[in-house]
Amino acid sequence: MKASKEGLEVQIQTLLDSGEHEDSPLSAPLRELWTAHQDLARRIDRISHISDGFQSLAKQREQSLTERLNKQLRQLEKVARISDRYQNMMRDLNEALREASTHDALTGLANRRLLVEKLKKEVERYARYQRPFSIAMLDVDHFKGINDRYGHEVGDGALIEIARVLDAEIRENDLCGRWGGEEFLILLPETGDQAAGLVMERVRNAVERLTIRVQDESVYMTVSIGVAEHRKESSYSDTISRADHALLVAKRGGRNQLSTATD
Ligand code: GH3
Ligand code: MG
Ligand code: MG
Repeated sequence: MKASKEGLEVQIQTLLDSGEHEDSPLSAPLRELWTAHQDLARRIDRISHISDGFQSLAKQREQSLTERLNKQLRQLEKVARISDRYQNMMRDLNEALREASTHDALTGLANRRLLVEKLKKEVERYARYQRPFSIAMLDVDHFKGINDRYGHEVGDGALIEIARVLDAEIRENDLCGRWGGEEFLILLPETGDQAAGLVMERVRNAVERLTIRVQDESVYMTVSIGVAEHRKESSYSDTISRADHALLVAKRGGRNQLSTATD
């Protein structure tokens, strides 16, 4: 049976220590071999000790490098998330600004600025392709009386309700906006004054049928309307002036009616 390495070493050491075989010619070379072997074993031990240390150091370095990289990655992800949120906020803010600069805060309808922008475009289209369009100017009748009787807040609510009715009654391509105070402007593209008159008569009727409840009371309102079709070689403000004049005629005629510019 083959002896284990440790067993063999113990055996040799014991043999050499006993001094029983000093006379044998193998004794001196064996002692030398034994010393060389021990020296070699010590060196191997030292080398494997150094290699173990080196390996654990490399492992530690690798670990700390991975940790640092992971930490930086987490920080980058955080920055990316913040930047995404910031960009979304900026986009929402821009949309809100655009909405605020083109729409009336009370009614949500287009404001004067947006109306003028669209009017200019219609005038360009008219000049280039001779596409007709009309303008209707609406003014709530005796609106001051509503404020005086029920207060400004009820007046505001009434304007919101009227705006809702106007917006619901006009056609898809028409644009209704608040021109100012209790005045509204409706732009009717691709529409001559006769067809515009029909649409606006329907709008006038819808406002007449609108009922607003103030406590136990029912409040009714009417609008007067002036319609004007855009003419060749005139500006949008010329057409607005003609619609304004027609509106005055409707007011003078007794209100709650529509008048069309004939000049
Ligand atoms: P008319 O039939 O001649 O148009 O009479 P009116 O009373 O409607 O006309 P007037 O120009 O004398 O009065 C307009 C009123 O509309 C006065 C003003 O205080 C009111 N008004 C304008 N803008 C607003 C608003 O945003 N909210 C409220 N509650 N009232 C408004
Ligand atoms: Mg007015
Ligand atoms: Mg009025």
